[in-house]
Amino acid sequence: MAIVAKLVTRHICTLCHRGFSKASRAKAHEGFCNRDPANRSCMTCGLFERADSASWDDAYPGCPASCGAGIELTLPMPRNCQSWEAQ
Ligand SMILES: [Zn+2]
Repeated sequence: MAIVAKLVTRHICTLCHRGFSKASRAKAHEGFCNRDPANRSCMTCGLFERADSASWDDAYPGCPASCGAGIELTLPMPRNCQSWEAQ
């Protein structure tokens, strides 16, 4: 067996840092990226309330992420939300 160094091209989303081997897949990702405010997803919404981690020391059970507008958070994350607000 021989070890060789191989350089590869990756197309990286500058917002979420996800990498793609094909430029066309990276381009398609633009319309779905949760970090792009143009897609109006929860990750860029001012109403999004991040999850709190549980604490064993304080007996705090934690709290899941939620929406300040009362919209149910689903997977995949909602996009083009009517209630979206800028952060
Ligand atoms: Zn992205």
